[in-house]
Amino acid sequence: MQIPDPSVLPLQNYGRVIRLIMDLRDKGINDTAVLSAIERVPREIFVPQQMLDQAYEDIALPIGRGQTISQPLVVATMTEALAVGDRDKVLEIGTGSGYQAAILSKLCRRLYTIERHKPLLENAQQVFDELKLRNITAICGDGMRGWPVINGISQAPFQRIIVTAAARGKPPQELLDQLDQGGIMVCPVGESSDDQVLKKYQKLSDDTYSISDICPVRFVPLLPDVARDA
Ligand code: SAH
Repeated sequence: MQIPDPSVLPLQNYGRVIRLIMDLRDKGINDTAVLSAIERVPREIFVPQQMLDQAYEDIALPIGRGQTISQPLVVATMTEALAVGDRDKVLEIGTGSGYQAAILSKLCRRLYTIERHKPLLENAQQVFDELKLRNITAICGDGMRGWPVINGISQAPFQRIIVTAAARGKPPQELLDQLDQGGIMVCPVGESSDDQVLKKYQKLSDDTYSISDICPVRFVPLLPDVARDA
């Protein structure tokens, strides 16, 4: 196991991080690149001050605006299922705290992320700057419409897309359209909060996909438009 970089992680947290990694291994995560990314991203920076002591427990925590930073096991499971390569351009819908984006940024070439709550996006951007995660581009917008054309530049297609809020029935068509041929999307899908399944879509051609179920999950819903606090 790699020794954590003390400039990123205070000494007293080593033990807690290592325990989290061992916990994730016990729960079935065995992709060493994913575990190493989790080891190198200080989750404590993404959680509210008053919850610092719970930062390395395998639980979801509230981050404000009724949203949550996902449970580390769910982040690890989604990241493993995405099978990200270091040449990949990855799109994330639902920046939230920015934690999942930070993990992915360690594994891919460029990470694009969209959040509909502007205050959450601004917090996450500050953390990306603090951690010098320079391959992340984060915007406030409606991720259900995919990554927008900005200054005439379109970033699609993406080799990987991760949706960290639950879609009703199926992922939005605009997102499926922005997935590269052969690309993989992971997205929680369900009709209600206690009936969600994490699904993996691999794009075989313009309109054919292989679809598999990964595990039951519980996410906040994917909602249209930018939130009114933005
Ligand atoms: N990935 C986050 C957890 C996200 S919680 C993390 O690591 O902390 C889900 C997030 O999706 C919430 O912040 C919610 O505001 C956002 N969201 C929901 N619908 C959205 C949409 N259409 N576009 C962008 N973000 C959306």
